[in-house]
Amino acid sequence: MAKAPVLTPRADDFPRWYQDLVGKAELADNGPVRGTMVIRPYGYGLWERMQQELDARIKAAGAQNAYFPLFIPQSYLTKEAEHVEGFAPELAVVTHGGGKELEEPVVVRPTSETIVNDCFSKWVQSYRDLPLLINQWANVVRWELRPRVFLRTTEFLWQEGHTAHATYEDARDYAARIHREVYADFLENVLAMDVVPGRKTVRERFAGAINTLTLEGMMGDGKALQMTTSHELGQNFAKAFATRYLSKDGREEYVWQTSWGSTTRLVGALVMMHGDDDGLRIPPRLAPVQVVVVAVKDDDAVLATVREIGDRLRTAGIRVHVDDRVDTPFGRRAVDWELKGVPVRVEVGPRDVENGTVVLVRRVAGSKEPTPIGVLSEVLPKVLEDDQALLLAQSRERRDDRTVEVTTVEEAAEAASTGWARIAWETLGVEGEARLAEQGVSVRCLVAADGSVPERDDQPGNVAVVARAY
Ligand code: AMP
Repeated sequence: MAKAPVLTPRADDFPRWYQDLVGKAELADNGPVRGTMVIRPYGYGLWERMQQELDARIKAAGAQNAYFPLFIPQSYLTKEAEHVEGFAPELAVVTHGGGKELEEPVVVRPTSETIVNDCFSKWVQSYRDLPLLINQWANVVRWELRPRVFLRTTEFLWQEGHTAHATYEDARDYAARIHREVYADFLENVLAMDVVPGRKTVRERFAGAINTLTLEGMMGDGKALQMTTSHELGQNFAKAFATRYLSKDGREEYVWQTSWGSTTRLVGALVMMHGDDDGLRIPPRLAPVQVVVVAVKDDDAVLATVREIGDRLRTAGIRVHVDDRVDTPFGRRAVDWELKGVPVRVEVGPRDVENGTVVLVRRVAGSKEPTPIGVLSEVLPKVLEDDQALLLAQSRERRDDRTVEVTTVEEAAEAASTGWARIAWETLGVEGEARLAEQGVSVRCLVAADGSVPERDDQPGNVAVVARAY
């Protein structure tokens, strides 16, 4: 008799499979307030690794970490007209504190452009103070109407970068640099995700930005997910908050700004991008546990061997966990590691100890091979790199297979039921975009003819990448 699947098969019900996986791999639970989540240790470990990798890249791009308050005076939000219009429906507003009604309600930050600008307007005096490059790791609240764990929660964790520059060009280049050197590099080289870099249309742009750069990924079911965004804010917030500097030639000028963010959504993206019917598949460069050494049986020689292998691999610089929980049946533990997507299992039973071998099980390649204990430290780093590359190749292949070139709005809508469509922006235009929106389909981004990020929406040759999105 075939074993009952641990998860709802993806082909039967993708959203259900996702929910199953998030629960069974112990990534997160729903919180008591709708749209909130409890991130469990295994899920938080993934986020911590993401933070480490992103933080290193952010610092390499010259930004420094700081912290701004969670509460923002409501009046701040109203200073930038588009910003308040965009965020008003999603705001959580505190009207009472300490048992009394507040004189002015405060907003729980949905993002921090306003309060950051309040500070920047004091910190920036002259051109010598620029560029000012700040990043914050924090939680934010957006009252989401259609919440989904990790992908779209009411409270989420993120980093938000905020910068001020002397010129338009400098701000533009910095937003592009973050987009490329922080986000695209991280998504491709750590998360092994194929992503499309592009520019948001006016309709999809961040409220208060003059340009939004995005990286869009194709999930396992062919839908799109916006991974990260980097915004050019122009002088919109600078004017609203009077963030000015004295230029070299003694003139008062408004600064040019950027903001950029990545969130716990990326944990959900990891699941939907790389997961299969047996569970998660974590790219080795990200994995908090790259190799789990599993004792198959309660046996002294086996237990001694798994601990010894664990020590040896740790010394070799591999992130390793020794599973000696022999009070739980081996089969159950094997299924659990599979669900959790640990890249490699090194399984050790009494016969293996006698033979001086282990069984090396690869989650991504799906192979199972006897391997001499003596060569593990040498073989594993290569195995991990191969599986990292394989995941990236698989995600690239999926996007290639499920993207079609189309020439009409109807064809674009049709294609979006199974994957992505590419259509000339000249053909689609703002009107076509609105027609697609009525059918739940959106322009994920505009891409230039040569695959680069266009500098303008109306640049000749621009292609719109069209999909249904999470
Ligand atoms: P934004 O400040 O609107 O540009 O958002 C920054 C990033 O946060 C976007 O690229 C999204 O990937 C992500 N994001 C937006 N809303 C949510 C949410 N409710 N939960 C998790 N991530 C989100």
